[in-house]
Amino acid sequence: MNQMTPLRRPKISLVIPVFNEEAVLPALFIRLDALMSVIGGDVEILMVDDGSRDASGEMLAARAQVDPRYRYVALSRNFGHQAAITAGMELAGGDAVIVMDADLQDPPEVVLELIQRWRDGYDIVHARRRSRAGETRFKKWTASLFYRGLRALTNVDIPADVGDFRLIDRRALETFRAMPEQDRFVRGMFGWMGYRQTVVDFDRDERAAGVTKYSLGRMVRLAFDGVVGFSDVPLRLALWTGAIVSLGSLLYGAWVVAMAILGVGLVSGWASLAVLISFLSGINLLMTGIVGVYVGRTHREVKQRPLYIVARDTGEARQAPAHIFARTAEVA
Ligand code: UDP
Ligand code: MG
Repeated sequence: MNQMTPLRRPKISLVIPVFNEEAVLPALFIRLDALMSVIGGDVEILMVDDGSRDASGEMLAARAQVDPRYRYVALSRNFGHQAAITAGMELAGGDAVIVMDADLQDPPEVVLELIQRWRDGYDIVHARRRSRAGETRFKKWTASLFYRGLRALTNVDIPADVGDFRLIDRRALETFRAMPEQDRFVRGMFGWMGYRQTVVDFDRDERAAGVTKYSLGRMVRLAFDGVVGFSDVPLRLALWTGAIVSLGSLLYGAWVVAMAILGVGLVSGWASLAVLISFLSGINLLMTGIVGVYVGRTHREVKQRPLYIVARDTGEARQAPAHIFARTAEVA
């Protein structure tokens, strides 16, 4: 690949999604500057502004102007965390790309360990949360339940307690770019693709400033994308529930017939009928709903809309947004 410059030092890109993070940006810049001086060499920091409505955008643009190592990419509106990191990874030019949150919950120092493992020859290095400071018991509990449930439901090797803090080698990144799915569960996509993967454990810090941008609704949605995007167990659940309920009603019917033949105890029970009917229609609606979820997703995929729209990019005028659309099977 690099025949022209064989001695070139590998370039590292840091991708950081930002959504209304004005409170934390000054602290983030200080930590990143310190980190870059330790990494040395060629480092690019790609800040993806996911449609912030506070001063984040101006702060990032100003930073990019005074320090060319910072690159400011603004999306045209809020596309959500998963789309923002997708945009960053696709635009990044590094030989290794690291994704981390803006709020300093992912300590920048861990990046050095990730890079070390990459130099050891791994293609994907996940940072795994050994502990999570300053998060509610509810969040920790639901997160733990979710990761374990997901592993049980899918046959994809998604490491438990791994979020979106990870390093990806260029090779895995090209594979990622060839995956055009609309409803993105990025950690699952990297788990799915194989290659040489490893984890680095770290203690998750408290958010340095500001508040979480993941509401309960967004968390539920992400969990949903994880399950439905990587598993057809819900669809099979419909099949099994249908089969079991039909079998049950068949047995019940046989029992009713037997009672009628024996001429005993057939009370005109409207209550049991009402219960049965409402139960069955409930199941029916539920199953139709599950099918509807998958159909809705198919519809979204078929439309092939771009996953994000770049409104501004202070980086070199490289590949520009063209490759948002040209993401067909480049990888065998
Ligand atoms: N974020 C984003 N777009 C969104 C929501 C969040 O780019 O729509 C960014 C946010 O600025 C942060 C990262 O995603 O850098 C993780 O968000 P947050 O820290 O709020 O999530 P939590 O750590 O509470 O799960
Ligand atoms: Mg956070």
